[in-house]
Amino acid sequence: MSSVAVIGAGLAGLTCATALKGLIPSVKVFEKSIFPGGRISRFRAGEYEFNHGAQYFTVNNPLFWNIVSAWQSEGIVRPWDGWIVELEKGQVSNSDMATQAFVGYPRMQIVVENLAQNCELTVSCNISELEKQSDGGWRIFNERGDYLGAFDIVIISTTANEVSNLCRGVPSISVLADRVDMTVCWSGMFAFEPRLDLPFDAAHVLNSPLSWISRYQLAGQQDKFDCWVLHASPEWSQLYAASYRGRVMHALLQSFWEAVDLPEMKAVSSSVHCWKHAVPINPINEDSLFDETEAIGACGDWCTAPRIEGAVLSGFSMADRVMKYIHKLDA
Ligand SMILES: Cc1cc2nc3c(=O)[nH]c(=O)nc-3n(C[C@H](O)[C@H](O)[C@H](O)COP(=O)(O)OP(=O)(O)OC[C@H]3O[C@@H](n4cnc5c(N)ncnc54)[C@H](O)[C@@H]3O)c2cc1C
Repeated sequence: MSSVAVIGAGLAGLTCATALKGLIPSVKVFEKSIFPGGRISRFRAGEYEFNHGAQYFTVNNPLFWNIVSAWQSEGIVRPWDGWIVELEKGQVSNSDMATQAFVGYPRMQIVVENLAQNCELTVSCNISELEKQSDGGWRIFNERGDYLGAFDIVIISTTANEVSNLCRGVPSISVLADRVDMTVCWSGMFAFEPRLDLPFDAAHVLNSPLSWISRYQLAGQQDKFDCWVLHASPEWSQLYAASYRGRVMHALLQSFWEAVDLPEMKAVSSSVHCWKHAVPINPINEDSLFDETEAIGACGDWCTAPRIEGAVLSGFSMADRVMKYIHKLDA
């Protein structure tokens, strides 16, 4: 067993690849996007930058505490002491939504960028076919049919829907991945100038198309701009999943003004993004999946818990299962 392909350079995949590095001669990571990060990646609109996916993370598991402590020592993660409130039609209904939270510094994506530095990563590479070889192992191909290499073990660390697409011939994985439902989330990214007169940093929004709004100040970004990320509720996002971007942009902005009860002003930058597979609703409650007969595994937040902690722990579990499998073969 000398080669592993990891498909997907989100937190789960890069955690797995980093843990295997040094233990296995060749670990290659393939990512369909132009950079690693998945659902913690940044969004850039001209000179403005936003965390448009995960906003912050919490820590419960002792292993994850150790990892977060190491990230803090490296200076890539900081506690987030933003003032979070609950908001309904311009009224703050609960001003004490304090939670012990952390963020990547200067941006969320730094955490994956840091992991990716130690990995052999190919970006802009959409894996669309896995072909089992008669002598074991897998050949992998991108969406143009280009052959990308043969690997003893393949790990798929994408969202559950992609896992079931790629794992059609491996029911021990695809059947479980098929059962996972994901929410849809429309994100709006708006910059205003001058800054808005809002005392809080973020709010859970009640009785609105929006569920979350958060001020985003990238370290070093000029503070004359006020950048806000708006997340529509899962229900609203599902309803408008196929709508025109312009219509969604307008609706999100209208809902924002209603939620904060400020006079409308023109945004200097407006963008929207639809997360078609945002957060798993019903994770399968397995840390990760590995089929020893087929030498293929899968990990991600859809296995464990729908958050950053879940993705990292799933990636570690995946690496552990791979090493146990290899040791078993060696014994
Ligand atoms: C809007 C939103 C808000 C969120 N808020 C929070 C929050 O506040 N706190 C929190 O803890 N969590 C939050 N989350 C969840 C958190 O972002 C995820 O749990 C975590 O990032 C999942 O990591 P992952 O590695 O499992 O998956 P992903 O990050 O989705 O990584 C999968 C990667 O696989 C790649 N990929 C997919 N298919 C292929 C293919 N065929 N070939 C190659 N590459 C492929 C993708 O491009 C992606 O980079 C939020 C998520 C969203 C969308």
